[in-house]
Parts: sequence; C-alpha cells; structure tokens
Amino acid sequence: MPKKFIVANWKMHKTVREALAFLDEFIPITKGLNGREIGIAPTFICIESVGKVLINTSIKLCAQNAFYENKGAYTGEVSPAMLKDCGVEYVIIGHSERRKYFYENDDIINKKIHACIKEGLKVIFCIGETLEDRQNNKTMEILKTQIRNGLLEINSPEALTIAYEPVWAIGTGVVATEEQIKQSHLFIRNQLKEIYGERANEVRILYGGSVTPENIKSIMAIDNVEGVLVGGASLDPLKFAKIVKY
Ligand code: PEP
Repeated sequence: MPKKFIVANWKMHKTVREALAFLDEFIPITKGLNGREIGIAPTFICIESVGKVLINTSIKLCAQNAFYENKGAYTGEVSPAMLKDCGVEYVIIGHSERRKYFYENDDIINKKIHACIKEGLKVIFCIGETLEDRQNNKTMEILKTQIRNGLLEINSPEALTIAYEPVWAIGTGVVATEEQIKQSHLFIRNQLKEIYGERANEVRILYGGSVTPENIKSIMAIDNVEGVLVGGASLDPLKFAKIVKY
C-alpha cells in the first residue's frame, strides 16, 4: 500500500517570514506522524528558505510550476534544474489556475512533465473538468483527453502522481460527491492501466477541491483516493495539521 500523500498548495500566498512562521507552528504538531507523506508547495520566492527548514523533517518540498527548458531567454520562468538544485522533490504541473490564467494547454503541460522527469523530479499532474463539462456529461471525455495528451510518451509511472481536481470544486467550498470522486478516480486508474499496465498502481491519485478538516476523513475513505491536494485549508497550520492527522 503506498503512503497517503497530502500536499499543501499555497498558491500566491505567504511572504518568506509568513512561510517560516507557518512551519514553526506546523512541524512540531505533525512530528512523528507515520504512514503518510506530506508535501508543501510554497511560492518560488519561499522555496529556498522553506527547503532549508524541511531538510530536517520528512516533509517533501514541492513547487507549484516549472518551465520546460532548463535555461535561456525565458523572462520570469524557473527551470526544473533550478528547482532540483533547491531540493525540490515534486512539481505540480497543469493546475487549473495555470491552464486558465496562463493559457497552459495539454501540449505545454506534456513538455513540462517531460522536462521535470528528465531532471529527476516527480510530478503531480493536475486534471479536472469544468462545471460546463460536467453539466454536458463530458467529464470522462475531458479527463481522458487530458491524461492521453499530458502523458504522451511519458514512460515513468513511478515519477507520477495524478491530482483529480474538478475545477468547480477548487476554492469554492463545493466538494465533489463521494460518487463523483469514486467514478472519476476509477476512470483515471483504468486509463493509467491502459497506458502503463500493472505499473499503473505505482501512480497515486489525489483528490483536490475544497478539502477541509471536516471532510478529509470521508474523502480519504473513497476507493482509489490515495491523498489530497489542499489549497485554502493548507494556509493555516492548525487546519492543515488536522487534515494531515485526519
Ligand atoms: C488547489 O488549489 O489545488 C485546491 C484544491 O484548492 P482548494 O483546496 O482551496 O479548493
């Protein structure tokens, strides 16, 4: 059984000082917690200082994005090699906010996944349907397209985690129902089996979308849910500690 994986996505929140204050409070409460893996994805500006604290813990340093080239004239971008050098282990790729505000499409996402894996980084690959897709009964079709295009010629299932994040559940307080999560996770598992065969089981599938200390236990009990990606509720050390200790 793979360890449950619980990842904080801090998005564009917290100064370096605020990030360190969070860790001061969070680390002692969660020390010695066995059987689950915790990750924190701070902003790029906090990566180095957060990484220096996490190095003395079992918490994994994650990044929220990476570019697909390792160096060059790409103003404003950060490369997989730079993240690796800072001690990053996992990179979130294809988050719906990247798709929406920064126009990342499946092709760009696929290039980013290739670049991260080539650098020895693990990838948390986000997929999920919009409300319109769901209302038009297109959820599975969308998930299939995102998986097939995003994972094109990616042959390293051991480096992959998938985060199923229905766009309509992110930051809205609306959580997908148990049945919706169950169906989507099973569909994703079956897609992975078609691509990777038995090795599909090496890929953990996380749920993301309005996870809180109140709903974590029931979400974790759903088949094929091997962890969660948490935005809003990960910003508060006490709330995030309750989630990881569910
Ligand atoms: C996310 O950003 O991936 C997310 C799931 O956010 P929230 O928990 O706030 O819905």
